[in-house]
Amino acid sequence: MYNLTQKIIDCRQCSLRNGCNNVVPGEGDPNADIMIIGEGPGKNEDLQGKPFVGAAGKFLNELLASIDLKRENVYITNVVKCRPPKNRDPLPEEIEACREWLNQQVVLIKPKLMVLLGRHAMCRFLPNLKISEAHGKAFRRELEGVGSQVFFPVYHPAAALYNGSMRVPLLEDFARIPALIKIIEKS
Ligand code: URA
Repeated sequence: MYNLTQKIIDCRQCSLRNGCNNVVPGEGDPNADIMIIGEGPGKNEDLQGKPFVGAAGKFLNELLASIDLKRENVYITNVVKCRPPKNRDPLPEEIEACREWLNQQVVLIKPKLMVLLGRHAMCRFLPNLKISEAHGKAFRRELEGVGSQVFFPVYHPAAALYNGSMRVPLLEDFARIPALIKIIEKS
């Protein structure tokens, strides 16, 4: 994992690296059962080089705590590792340039469950789904280099900060995770 993280930090495959302060490869337990995938670093993440350390990160910590987990128990990363200017959505070519890094992280971590935060993280692995319909449901798909992998899309915690009505569905969806892990372990 250390070597891969260094390669990600040294990456110059798209122009996002020119406009950001720090690359945010990801952090947490490289042997985690659960991998949490966000969209891309925001301002605070860019300044600290760590994922989900701003307001959305505070809520993510609460969501993890609601199922007795700490950040250190999971692996947290993003679809793109460098902050898009002014927090705009990552462009398809930027997602493409980062594709191999995220794939390699999944290959090394071999998570039982990948929790996809929001539409962009969901579409990276489960294109053509609607987050309003897919959130809180588990999907088993073949992932190149990995094999069979279970994905669990949920709303993005930042969306719940703007739209309070998403807090309850997020908490309810997270509450399903422990049982889901048990089912995956038995399957
Ligand atoms: N939002 C994300 O999608 N990722 C982060 O790391 C922080 C906020």
